[in-house]
Amino acid sequence: MKLEQRTAVVTGGARGIGLAIVKGYLREGACVAIADIDIDAAEQAVVEIRAEVDEAPVMAVRLDVADADSRQAMISAVEARFGGIDILVNNAAVFDMAPILEVSETSYDRQFGINVKGTFFTLQAVAAHMVARGQGGKIINMASQAGRRGEPLVSMYCASKAAVISLTQSCGLDLIKQGINVNGIAPGVVDTPMWDEVDALFARYEGRPPGEKKRLVGEAVPYGRMGRPEDHVGAAVFLASADSDYVVAQTLNVDGGNWMS
Ligand code: NAD
Repeated sequence: MKLEQRTAVVTGGARGIGLAIVKGYLREGACVAIADIDIDAAEQAVVEIRAEVDEAPVMAVRLDVADADSRQAMISAVEARFGGIDILVNNAAVFDMAPILEVSETSYDRQFGINVKGTFFTLQAVAAHMVARGQGGKIINMASQAGRRGEPLVSMYCASKAAVISLTQSCGLDLIKQGINVNGIAPGVVDTPMWDEVDALFARYEGRPPGEKKRLVGEAVPYGRMGRPEDHVGAAVFLASADSDYVVAQTLNVDGGNWMS
């Protein structure tokens, strides 16, 4: 077990990639907090995990990554339950889809407010907690292949994820001096509830039948299929464990070789 005696917080951990990482970290011996704005889904995930492993050291805590009071309350709740935070998976994000001429300021503010501001200030708050504890830490920011290139219809999501890759570089180089190791993961196309929303929006904007875009992007991945949430667990365990101590400020592609048709 690579994460024994460690406590991890997974933001947006109630479903999708985050939930797969929660389960993977529990298998590696960590205590895990599912920190999600959807507290009902987070609590339901805890119930389902406990149905499989009775004494699983997992908790649900409400977190809006974009809200300062919520971030501090989350840290206090995890500290009270597990003693402190060693690992943060900064995974929560949202996306909108619109042609450039229809992107609204509301949509811009929502995506940058959660994906960039939320990611940065959650990192900052947890890093401050880690520095105060004096035991170092590991932070993993969830980026995207969308942050490595532009894409039609999702310009603001792409820009927000490019910012996450940039933040990972800057924060990684800065915080390693205080024993906090910041890296990132850049998935490609992953079969989660988020991609169900993507497919529905492609159906609307490109006049495609439901499910067609999802099928096409899956076929275009060199590996031969879309990613699954579980495909990201190995990288997330590696970046949270001592195995990655000398890996600093990197964003690792976990994308089957490609991402979009
Ligand atoms: P998802 O939409 O299935 O799950 C996201 C979770 O984040 C949900 O549980 C949601 O309640 C939570 N959340 C949303 N806003 C929040 C907030 N303000 N505070 C706290 N929690 C909040 O997403 P997913 O597909 O599992 O994606 C997870 C991460 O991976 C995201 O950062 C996403 O951008 C990234 N990613 C996803 C894909 C993909 O194809 N699905 C590809 C590349 C990168």
